[in-house]
Amino acid sequence: MMKVARPELSFWERTNIPQILKGMWLTIRHIPKRKFTRQYPEEKPPLYGDYRGAPTLVRDPEGRVKCVACQLCEFVCPPKAIRITPGFRDEGRPDADVEKEPQEFEIDMLRCIYCGFCEEVCPEEAIFLQRDFAIAGYSREELKFNKQKLLELGGVREDSIWKWKYKGAPPPDAPAAPAREPRIQALARR
Ligand code: SF4
Ligand code: SF4
Repeated sequence: MMKVARPELSFWERTNIPQILKGMWLTIRHIPKRKFTRQYPEEKPPLYGDYRGAPTLVRDPEGRVKCVACQLCEFVCPPKAIRITPGFRDEGRPDADVEKEPQEFEIDMLRCIYCGFCEEVCPEEAIFLQRDFAIAGYSREELKFNKQKLLELGGVREDSIWKWKYKGAPPPDAPAAPAREPRIQALARR
């Protein structure tokens, strides 16, 4: 075992007065300087263009759920945060025989790592990461967002597919569908 010799303290060092004065001088020097403290949550931090927040489900401009329960996002999600129960659209609706719809769609926000794979892989542009990062709750169960909550958070998003409207090539007088923007621009608009 190696012995380390303790240095001898001087009289002033033993009183701790020089150390206290040194600390106070350091504090005083910083008082007139510009402050970097942010008063969160009143003062929000700036979010940059490609910021990825909580994933949500969106509806098309006619209020329809765009997700067709293909489960690609569930398959690709690295932490397995997504659980989908596929179902069918209600009988009697004009689009009932076109596609499936999720009966239930759950995202566990405690597992989600905001990677954006689900948004990238979705063939229907039905799931989008929003800019919301302040997700909090009192229990683990509360942070499992169900289909209704995900749709409320996602809202309506412009559609570039129009598949239910025209079922193929749009008629010549149809309004032009908005082109799909590169992700970075789409996020910058939010
Ligand atoms: S953002 Fe990533 S981790 Fe979160 S639900 Fe989508 S794929 Fe899963
Ligand atoms: S959100 Fe997209 S990828 Fe996920 S199940 Fe629905 S349609 Fe498929």
